[in-house]
Amino acid sequence: MITTGFIGLGAMGGPMAGHLHDNGLLTAVWNRSGDKAEAFAREHERVETPESPAALAAMVEVILVCVSADDDLRQVIADLEPGLKPGAVVVDHSTVSPATAREISERLATRDVAFVDAPVTGGVEGAKNGQLAVMAGGDADAFSRLGNVFAAYGKAWRHLGPAGAGQSAKAVNQLIVAGIAEAVSEGLAVVEKLGLPQDEMLELLGGGAAGNWFLEKRGRTMLADSFETGFAPKLLLKDLKICASLLEELSFESSVLPNALDDYARLIERGETGKDISALIRLKRGRLKGTMP
Ligand code: NAP
Repeated sequence: MITTGFIGLGAMGGPMAGHLHDNGLLTAVWNRSGDKAEAFAREHERVETPESPAALAAMVEVILVCVSADDDLRQVIADLEPGLKPGAVVVDHSTVSPATAREISERLATRDVAFVDAPVTGGVEGAKNGQLAVMAGGDADAFSRLGNVFAAYGKAWRHLGPAGAGQSAKAVNQLIVAGIAEAVSEGLAVVEKLGLPQDEMLELLGGGAAGNWFLEKRGRTMLADSFETGFAPKLLLKDLKICASLLEELSFESSVLPNALDDYARLIERGETGKDISALIRLKRGRLKGTMP
């Protein structure tokens, strides 16, 4: 049985590590704020809480990471390095740029450590329910040995190419997510403005050609002006900037991206974000009332 250690017990990483534990695959966890690791160990039997990423790396064959952004990943990799053994595998589930994934892959290869960039999609709900989709790039041989690990929290996992391919795929995913969030936020703001019955509209929109994950999972809470669970706007803004540089490299002109970049920058500036990107409806409501700059 493969041994794993998980670094980054945030909204995504916490539930993912929980599934690894439930499948008998988790040896140790580490989190920057130590209280989260201690709480996790209290709730999950026989999980070690080593003092540092390096100490965790020395204990396991596979190290899984899920932290916020590029520099955070670089920091974790630097902290892991003293403990990494040749033949180990590092899997990154954070969303970072394809260039960062390639840089880390090359850096770890000098230590004979395999790297798999493996960003996920499916939201906090997907992490909790073990229904994530894993988009992977990097070491194909290591990927082929990770089926049991991905099966613990995934419903689909695919290898898409060399290091960075998983992150490129995730950038495409985020472009689509941003477009859907724009459309649903505008549509629901117009529903409110028209005074249409909300329960009926959610049922009818969700059951027809306008139905999608975002509307299904966030529609009701958006109309209730509640944004307590999910995907922080600052994280999507980070992803959209990654997407922007990728599309620039391709000389691809997007009409979705500039609007979304502008909207989330404005939402964050106004401090109206809550914990989820569905707070975008607050901006759209303001626009409909003609109160936005
Ligand atoms: P989160 O709840 O904010 O958790 C971030 C985690 O990263 C925390 O454990 C945090 O530690 C750790 N961290 C941040 N900077 C660090 C550093 N410099 N060194 C060590 N640890 C650090 O974020 P999340 O929602 O779980 O997202 C994590 C990643 O998954 C992001 O790349 C995000 O884009 C991606 N993602 C998120 C979703 C979603 O719906 N939330 C969906 C798909 C992908 P502390 O506890 O000490 O702050």
